[in-house]
Amino acid sequence: MNQETQYEVVIGLEVHLQLSTNTKIFCGCANEFGQPPNTRTCPVCLGLPGSLPVVNARALEFAVKVGLALNCTVNPFVKFDRKNYFYPDCPKAYQISQFDHPIAEHGYLNISLEDEIKKIGITRIHMEEDAGKLIHDNDPNYTSVDLNRAGTPLIEIVSEPDIRTPKEAATYMRALRDILQYLDICDGNLEQGSLRCDANVSVRPRGREKFGTRTELKNMNSFRNVEKAIEFEIYRQIELIEEGGEVVQQTRLWDTTKNQTRVMRSKEEAHDYRYFPEPDLPPVIVTAELLADIKEELPELADVRQKRFMEEYAMSENDAVTLTESRYLADYFEEVVSFTNSPKSASNMVLSEVLRVLNEQSIDIREFSVTPERLSVLIKLKEEDKINSSAMQEVFNAMLGSEKSAEELAKEMNLIQVSDSGFLEPIVDEIVAENPDEVKRYKEGKKQLMGFFVGQVMKASKGKANPKLVTEMVSKKLQS
Ligand code: ADP
Ligand code: MG
Ligand code: ZN
Repeated sequence: MNQETQYEVVIGLEVHLQLSTNTKIFCGCANEFGQPPNTRTCPVCLGLPGSLPVVNARALEFAVKVGLALNCTVNPFVKFDRKNYFYPDCPKAYQISQFDHPIAEHGYLNISLEDEIKKIGITRIHMEEDAGKLIHDNDPNYTSVDLNRAGTPLIEIVSEPDIRTPKEAATYMRALRDILQYLDICDGNLEQGSLRCDANVSVRPRGREKFGTRTELKNMNSFRNVEKAIEFEIYRQIELIEEGGEVVQQTRLWDTTKNQTRVMRSKEEAHDYRYFPEPDLPPVIVTAELLADIKEELPELADVRQKRFMEEYAMSENDAVTLTESRYLADYFEEVVSFTNSPKSASNMVLSEVLRVLNEQSIDIREFSVTPERLSVLIKLKEEDKINSSAMQEVFNAMLGSEKSAEELAKEMNLIQVSDSGFLEPIVDEIVAENPDEVKRYKEGKKQLMGFFVGQVMKASKGKANPKLVTEMVSKKLQS
């Protein structure tokens, strides 16, 4: 029997994100990476007795922004809790996190699947501090601790178990990344590590209401790996059940070299964090006024920008969606528009040629070698009829591997259109003289033959003639 139809998969994701505030979440230390070990520390983030934490207002604002962008209710009463555990990367032996009064709850994120828009529920968003880093290969006898990272502001975004396939999970991650790009609250590459995801996965016989027992997958460092790890885990669980076994609640690690998951700890070994309210931090009251201020500061998000593109640039919904999914792609497009004043040509170029190259090279628009300014020179050449569309494509391809301007390249490649009727006149005469039959039929009313004549002239001019001008000239000639 087909296992895929017999079982239904249930997935919920927990995503961690580092916020790019200037300072750490509960102290004034710089929130920066790549510095000498333990140089960005103070009594608070070293966990020294007697030190007192203070909530970073900017981190709070960033977390609220994420809450708003994910359609959550931002809680007016926000409280911090201690999550107790002992580990050398955590000098206080507890992490300050949020338990029962997180910053935001009950939201959703729309993801675009092939034939539908699916709403994935967001259970909650909470703030917490990152731990330090243990370095094991520094010394053969000791493990070293670097606490520069301790106290880095994090938010955790927990989804409802609404996700049904590995593909949907990856799409959710990408959609989340797209929104976070718009909010501009996180540095670094969201795809490679700054969006850390744990996936909860279970299967149940199709039609059964009760969820199956879940496992939690960790250590997936790219969207592709999230998809692969979940896929592996689904088949592992189904196979286990089919063999008469039972899924046990476990935390499993994704092994990127073996492409499989393995046990990290089981439920019995799970931590009891003994959460309790952080006595050193008063609860934060998010007033309606503060909330309104933060709302005011929200940038134009993808859905609003998409509607504006449709109106302002007379764009189809599909084109507007594609252009606005990534903030950086939309920025690129609007920059091209600002230089060319020609949204139609700009969107054509970005949607067809630019996206094709990004795809082929597997790069982001921010890594694309042709700046909006350089692209706009090419677009202007075409708008001014100095090159035709096939030449435009050739010059574009040449620009990818060259620093030269579109104009220089077009000249070098001999692609500047001839709009000189003195040069074209003899060619037109020749083509007309060589094709008496077609001329006769044209004059008898077969006007479609215009395409034939223009094509012949274009060919004779080696593609350099300006087709508009040629059409005018041929039509005049045939009327006489
Ligand atoms: P914990 O704090 O122990 O990780 P939560 O109840 O907060 O547990 O759930 C964490 C994540 O697990 C959520 O994203 C939720 O949607 C998901 N989840 C809960 N139950 C299941 C299940 N049976 N199968 C798959 N995912 C689940
Ligand atoms: Mg969990
Ligand atoms: Zn500090």
